[in-house]
Amino acid sequence: MAGKKRRVRVAHELSRPRRAKIKKALEEHESEARPEWDRGVNWGDIRLFRKRIKPGTMRTIHVPLLDVELGDSWPIPVTVIHGVRPGPLVTILGGLHGDELTGASACTNLLSNAFTEEDKPLNPKTMAGTIRIIPVVNLPGYRMKSRYFPDGRDLNRNFPGKIKGTSTSRVAYQLWNNLLNDSDAIVDLHSAAKGRSNMPQIRANLSHPESNILAKAFGIEVVLDSNPPKGSLRRLANENGIAAITYEGGGANFLDQKSVKVAVAGCLNVLRALKVIPGNPARPRFRLNAGGSTWLRAGEGGLLDMFVEPGSVVAAGDVLATISDPGTPGLTVDIVAPEDGLLICTATNPFVAAGMPVGHFLPISKHIKLLRTQLDNKGCLIVNGSQGEPLWREEEEIEVDEIEVEGSWSGGFIDAEWNKDANEPSNDGHEEGEA
Ligand SMILES: [Zn+2]
Repeated sequence: MAGKKRRVRVAHELSRPRRAKIKKALEEHESEARPEWDRGVNWGDIRLFRKRIKPGTMRTIHVPLLDVELGDSWPIPVTVIHGVRPGPLVTILGGLHGDELTGASACTNLLSNAFTEEDKPLNPKTMAGTIRIIPVVNLPGYRMKSRYFPDGRDLNRNFPGKIKGTSTSRVAYQLWNNLLNDSDAIVDLHSAAKGRSNMPQIRANLSHPESNILAKAFGIEVVLDSNPPKGSLRRLANENGIAAITYEGGGANFLDQKSVKVAVAGCLNVLRALKVIPGNPARPRFRLNAGGSTWLRAGEGGLLDMFVEPGSVVAAGDVLATISDPGTPGLTVDIVAPEDGLLICTATNPFVAAGMPVGHFLPISKHIKLLRTQLDNKGCLIVNGSQGEPLWREEEEIEVDEIEVEGSWSGGFIDAEWNKDANEPSNDGHEEGEA
């Protein structure tokens, strides 16, 4: 297949105005003169919190989340891998939400000898540019097994923060101003919030050209085109012209090995695409760009028994789950797929009330056959990077099939529906959205 061009097939598309906007943004971006990451003769030592990092070395620095002289400053480990040649500064982070472990595990994997020693991709002596890896940003939350900071607030709804604001707001200010705002690209690794599980997916504003390119570089099948929630790091980064994508995989409080594997593979793809490390990114066979989704809701309350996993490709009428009620034995109600499509998220919390979402569904008509050529033995889409070896590796730049799903996100943000029902503490009245 090497070098063979595949035709881009577009069916069931993103809305026409949205497509036009994305196309125009990318064309304008192409015609702009862009720096080629060439920082020329200035490539040398860098400093982070008064610590020096020489080209060709890596160093872990403990960065305080709070700028204080008394009390706990909440230091977190930030590992900087500083290459020998000029190149972009890529930040890979996990655990903005302390109970989401996919990012923590993926980052820890990337920092292991398997990736950083000689002859391995993240060896600083062979790298261009600089990589900053932060396994858990919200370390205080992680230690409490909580999404939130100790003051009960959601860090990823508090950017850019304030120097004299709440604890969480001060952390956001410190992170943005003293750590993250010089990034060329940010890959923010998340999991679904408590009570549900996501299949591996990318969220990006596809009309933000740098982020669109980064989303493609990550190299997985499912890309949700969405505006970032207010107060999120992704939104602030985009507003400052920085490429930023959110990866979602697995759920809070558990470790989903498949999601970790895809996260690691995606980060390596990004670094290859940005020419920070050698090699070509492994590309998926197709990309599914979704502009909206359907919510599957419980029609009755009771005990939810899900028969399918996130990532399941289902047909109209398939029974996805059943609801029973121990208080009314003998009666059950099925939840069926409304049409053919892909279940990108499923509930893991078996306690449901009528109206609660139990699944997040992308209806797919014309290209469902294409999806069905890539299923595991449970009927789930095999995501690029989830297997031992990349599914499909091309040495040449190729075009992949684009499938687009029309619609809009109810509530404005992708996960707005879940979060309204999640009984989570409110945080400053900020809108909930991205997990
Ligand atoms: Zn999250």
